[in-house]
Amino acid sequence: MKKKKAIVIGSGFAGLSAASFLAKEGWTVTVIEKNAGPGGRAQQLKEQGFTFDMGPSFYWMPDVFERYFSQFGKKVSDYYELERLDPSYRIYWQDGYTNMPANYENLKEVFESIEPGSAAKLDKFLAGAAYKYEAGMNKLVYKPGLSLTEFFDWQTISGVFRLQVFSSIKKHIASYFRHPKLQQMMEFPVLFLGALPQDTPALYSLMNYADIKGGTWYPRGGMYSVVDGMYKLALELGVEFIFSENVTEISIHDKSAKTVKTSKAEYAADAVISGADYQFTETKLLPAAYQSYSSSYWEKKVMAPSCLMYYVGLNKKLNKPVHHSLFF
Ligand SMILES: Cc1cc2nc3c(=O)[nH]c(=O)nc-3n(C[C@H](O)[C@H](O)[C@H](O)COP(=O)(O)OP(=O)(O)OC[C@H]3O[C@@H](n4cnc5c(N)ncnc54)[C@H](O)[C@@H]3O)c2cc1C
Repeated sequence: MKKKKAIVIGSGFAGLSAASFLAKEGWTVTVIEKNAGPGGRAQQLKEQGFTFDMGPSFYWMPDVFERYFSQFGKKVSDYYELERLDPSYRIYWQDGYTNMPANYENLKEVFESIEPGSAAKLDKFLAGAAYKYEAGMNKLVYKPGLSLTEFFDWQTISGVFRLQVFSSIKKHIASYFRHPKLQQMMEFPVLFLGALPQDTPALYSLMNYADIKGGTWYPRGGMYSVVDGMYKLALELGVEFIFSENVTEISIHDKSAKTVKTSKAEYAADAVISGADYQFTETKLLPAAYQSYSSSYWEKKVMAPSCLMYYVGLNKKLNKPVHHSLFF
């Protein structure tokens, strides 16, 4: 039987993952990427002898990566080496700094030194967060998401109040910790969601669990080792990559996405998956008749904030700063 052909737009983590799963299922897969190499927002910059990770630097939830590679009969250690960082990160205040120790007992001592009684509260807080992590990942995130009925099992429905999707994480944290420093420390991980703690459900205390219990890890060679690993796996599965080619249009035939036009050529496929940003794919690549949302819908949306990045190389080694220094 002729193999079905898929085109994946973009080679960020999402594109690499989609391409690999399709290839594993027997599809012929071509990834078309506008940049010169894979990685997307997790690009690497090499300049004047320095190597920078341009995007992510916090490797959290190592279980998610292990699960990813295991679905292809592989292990993380087949592709890169991980090291747990200690401290996980450092927070600078106006009056000094606090290291977040990797060891939980040491972290409890830090809490206790800031607010007496808070170490026991941290235990309680994290017990709830552990439930949310386990339920959130297994009952929500890892479901294929093809139908709402996937979420209709009794455990998920009965546990929905324990997941605290209706109250804010800001209030949830304040109900455990009074000291502003502890509150800020615990609110920090939701920054990754691009939203403010007052607008984020308490469900996301699962991020505190990921942070404190899961730890911050360093892939040897930098975060780009993860991209390299996922890229190598995709190549081993037979995925083909076309770099430096900008997709300009997804054409629809018989109500299906069948052709992808780029700056250089046109490619036919049985299915197209876009790993580029949702709004961009909808409004710039799809014909208007096939867009799910109107332009007024997008205009009302508040996008996650951007940031300004500096990649700074120095001609001497500094002793004081650690990796991951956060200035509050
Ligand atoms: C500064 C920064 C810091 C971050 N820190 C962390 C962190 O510490 N920990 C963490 O877990 N996450 C972090 N993130 C988030 C993480 O990097 C992203 O969630 C992740 O890289 C997104 O992957 P993706 O595949 O969804 O999208 P992307 O990486 O954006 O991939 C999309 C790909 O599509 C390509 N593309 C787009 N349009 C076209 C087109 N028309 N034709 C062809 N190709 C196209 C793009 O070039 C890109 O390669 C950070 C992000 C940034 C920017």
